[in-house]
Amino acid sequence: MRKNIVAGNWKMNLDADEASQFALNFIKHKSSFPEDVDVIVCPPAVHLQDLADVFYDFNIGVGGQNCSVHSSGAYTGEISAGILKSVGASYVILGHSERREYFNESATQLAEKIKQALENKLIPIFCCGEPLSVRKENSHVAYVKQQLDEVFGELSQAQISQLIIAYEPIWAIGTGETASPQQAQEIHHEIRKVLNNYIGENADEISILYGGSVKPNNAKELFSEADIDGALVGGASLNPEDFLAIIKSF
Ligand code: PEP
Repeated sequence: MRKNIVAGNWKMNLDADEASQFALNFIKHKSSFPEDVDVIVCPPAVHLQDLADVFYDFNIGVGGQNCSVHSSGAYTGEISAGILKSVGASYVILGHSERREYFNESATQLAEKIKQALENKLIPIFCCGEPLSVRKENSHVAYVKQQLDEVFGELSQAQISQLIIAYEPIWAIGTGETASPQQAQEIHHEIRKVLNNYIGENADEISILYGGSVKPNNAKELFSEADIDGALVGGASLNPEDFLAIIKSF
């Protein structure tokens, strides 16, 4: 059975004191987490080791927000998948729309990053999603399929089978506007069909997360859809109470 997952993407937020404050507040509530939900926090990479140490006993995973296409070497400012793994990460977000847009990440680079992640035993949370102009033209399904095909075409079946997918419509990220559960379900179902083209029945085992202004007041409805297996949460993951309320919405 595929997993229910709630992952928090802190982006470039929370300094060291704020991160440890979050962790201490958050673990206080661990006994009330539903058993059948995997919880992941993706902080700025400098906090990974500390959070991994605190969260380990509570079975809360931590992940990076990006990794290099290279395994090591003279790439100033970059962080390899192996280094993320060495400080306690088990996951890495790849292909977030902010990385695609501000850092011009291409499909070829993303496929390389996925390979780096998997070689280093990190589970990639691979993001896709359309901008508002594409949604307005009603071409979002074709757009997202193309984003997946461009990357999946570079990967083996075994590699695709290890991914977590996050569908994040760009128009819903950080805007307060959420895709309706029906809009999200429509495209999650299409994503599963694309997965099925590559890996057959194993597509049923892949968790597909929704991301885009998920909040305590809309998570339950989203999670009730058949192909929505959890959430990638930005803003609301910075507040332990809100993040917890989303986790408890399963
Ligand atoms: C995100 O950036 O991954 C995200 C979904 O952000 P928010 O929840 O703030 O829309």
